[in-house]
Amino acid sequence: MARTAPTALKALTVQQPWAWAITNSAKRIENRTWPPPQTWRGPLALHAGKQVNARDVVDLTDVLNEMGERAPQRRDLVLGAVVALVRLADVHAADLERCPDTCGPAWGAYPGLGEPVGALYHWRLADLTVLREPVPCKGALGLWHLPDDVAAAVAAQTRGSRAWTP
Ligand SMILES: [Zn+2]
Repeated sequence: MARTAPTALKALTVQQPWAWAITNSAKRIENRTWPPPQTWRGPLALHAGKQVNARDVVDLTDVLNEMGERAPQRRDLVLGAVVALVRLADVHAADLERCPDTCGPAWGAYPGLGEPVGALYHWRLADLTVLREPVPCKGALGLWHLPDDVAAAVAAQTRGSRAWTP
C-alpha cells in the first residue's frame, strides 16, 4: 500500500448536521458548487464545522424519518473537529438524468430542484472510517490541509483504513 504523508492530508469542512449524516447514516454524496482541483482523488479528512444550520436539521430529520432512522439531537453533533477519514472516490456534475442510483434523491441535490441554483457537483465518498476521538481543529473553506499535529492524530486513529488507498 502506498504511504501517504500525514502532512499532505487534505480536509473538507462539512457543516452540521450533514457531517453527522455521513458518519452516522448513509450519506455518501457531498453536494458542492465546485469540483476539487484537476482530477484529484484520495484520502480526505472530514471536518465538522462549528455551525449548525437549523433548517438543515429539519431537512435531515425529514430524510431520516422517511428512512425510518433516528434523527440526531443537538448534543449528538460534533462541532469544530475532524470526525472521519474518507476517500474521495469520484466527482461528477449533478444531473438528475445521468446520475447513478447511488446518488439518490435522499442525499444528492440537483440543479433546478429547489436551491441552490446553478451548477452542483456530487463528491462521492467511500471507505468511511469514523474517528473514535474527534480531533478538534479550526475549519476552512475549500480544500485545505490539516495542521501536522491534527493530521498525525487522525492518522493514528485510522491505521489500516482503506481510505488511505489511493
Ligand atoms: Zn450524482
